[in-house]
Amino acid sequence: MPVAGQSPLSPAASTDFDAIVIGSGIGGLVTATQLAAKGASVLVLESYLIPGGSAGYFERQGYRFDVGASMIFGFGQQGTTNLLTRALEAVNVSLETIPDPVQIHYHLPDGLELKVHKDYEKFLQELTDLFPHEQNGIRQFYDECWRVFNCLNVMDLLSLEEPRYLMRVFFQHPLACLGLVKYLPQNAGDIARRYISDPALLKFIDMECYCWSVVPADRTPMINAGMVFSDRHYGGINYPKGGVGQIAQKLVEGLEKCGGQIQYKARVTKILQTNGRATGVELASGKRYTAKRIISNATRWDTFEKLIPAAQMPTSERKWQRRYQQSSSFLSLHLGVKAEALPAGTECHHILLEDWERMEEGEGTIFVSIPTLLDPTLAPPGYHIIHTFTPSWFHDWQHLSPTAYKDRKEAAADRLIQRLERIFPHLSTHLDYQEIGTPRTHRRFLGRDNGTYGPIPRRKLAGLLGMPFNRTAVSGLYCVGDSTFPGQGLNAVAFSGFACAHRVAADLGF
Ligand SMILES: Cc1cc2nc3c(=O)[nH]c(=O)nc-3n(C[C@H](O)[C@H](O)[C@H](O)COP(=O)(O)OP(=O)(O)OC[C@H]3O[C@@H](n4cnc5c(N)ncnc54)[C@H](O)[C@@H]3O)c2cc1C
Repeated sequence: MPVAGQSPLSPAASTDFDAIVIGSGIGGLVTATQLAAKGASVLVLESYLIPGGSAGYFERQGYRFDVGASMIFGFGQQGTTNLLTRALEAVNVSLETIPDPVQIHYHLPDGLELKVHKDYEKFLQELTDLFPHEQNGIRQFYDECWRVFNCLNVMDLLSLEEPRYLMRVFFQHPLACLGLVKYLPQNAGDIARRYISDPALLKFIDMECYCWSVVPADRTPMINAGMVFSDRHYGGINYPKGGVGQIAQKLVEGLEKCGGQIQYKARVTKILQTNGRATGVELASGKRYTAKRIISNATRWDTFEKLIPAAQMPTSERKWQRRYQQSSSFLSLHLGVKAEALPAGTECHHILLEDWERMEEGEGTIFVSIPTLLDPTLAPPGYHIIHTFTPSWFHDWQHLSPTAYKDRKEAAADRLIQRLERIFPHLSTHLDYQEIGTPRTHRRFLGRDNGTYGPIPRRKLAGLLGMPFNRTAVSGLYCVGDSTFPGQGLNAVAFSGFACAHRVAADLGF
């Protein structure tokens, strides 16, 4: 592995790559590994010290904390939607994972307590016991999600911008393709209301969507809902042994095995253009590299307002910004706690909300992850990690003195801990370690504008139709990651990575 900050490249090689990938998030790394596996020469430039971005990790006092993601889809063993398994296999690496029998334990308003079991029938039964009058509607809605998933799960998931691939897949799976075309412009909320009328149950479906799409069902594309609501019972939720950071570490190992290179502490400040075509990048150090294709794993806001001057923003990007806005960032609390803080039978992932009106507000919904319940090696013996986060806006943390910033962080952490005591009654007296991250932390360490979690529709749109694919209006420049089709989440950005590499490889003639 190259030494952070030092170029491992010879001067001659430094001017000629097939592809440069800006950023080593999972979207960037899947693109890079797929291209390297096809024989392309690839350089990944990462501004931070380690790979992974929002799927990275950090270590403190014997604890290994996940930066963000911890409920991991895409590690199934069958079908075609297990994109993380496939991405690792493509570069001859693998990762041991630990299956989670319950996706989420919900703690919702009006005493609505419910677990989403891996076993589909067990989940439907638990939900039907709470809403017996909606028995048929519940099954019809979730069965329709399976129809979407079954269409996706038979075909290779590659670039929808590659006509030959589209033709091939259509002739191989005509019914599945027609099925997907039907669902592409639809949102989950419309389909839910076709079958379900109880407002409390519709609120629950809103939360089922919100907890990963950060918008209610009406603005959540049905394709994404079909994936999430079915794959959790099919491939399941599986936690990587050693922590989520292992996914990126393994992809880097595979990249290097295939001859690809990565540099850390290599912040790209500019995408270089020649006659309107992207031809290279410039780093904060002043170093320049050129390549036949440039792929940005930074968000679209960072790519088109910072790496390319905002004044040169293509019309298509302006239009996209009129349709999509930045979601909030998060206030994250990383806790090390004594094992006695957790009641017997505690599940790994929880969602807590006391008032439906506050679902989408700052400090409304609380997300909890306790990965040590699946992999105890992430904490010292007798201790657990609790990673909890809640939406928070960047502007609420600006223009504060260091003392005011620290005080505001501590007050927010206290509020979270107090609310969490509904699930873990003795939490505050069992704390061993505490670290608080704000939207400023997300912006600084993940390089994401305003620390945003990603794009969300400004208003109700036609499903996924408005999300851009990987090519951009700037010739030679591609985007990959959560601000491209199909959106946020590790398996989704892996999809984006497969698609991007496929399109770039076709353009390069591989
Ligand atoms: C708190 C939180 C919880 C989450 N929970 C889940 C979950 O449970 N399950 C799930 O599937 N998803 C979850 N997600 C979402 C998921 O983590 C993201 O959607 C996904 O990791 C985004 O991947 P990406 O490839 O788009 O890029 P990112 O992860 O944003 O990575 C981009 C990389 O590019 C680098 N970079 C940016 N600009 C530059 C530059 N100019 N020069 C060099 N390098 C640069 C950054 O340093 C970073 O490493 C969560 C996210 C957060 C924040």
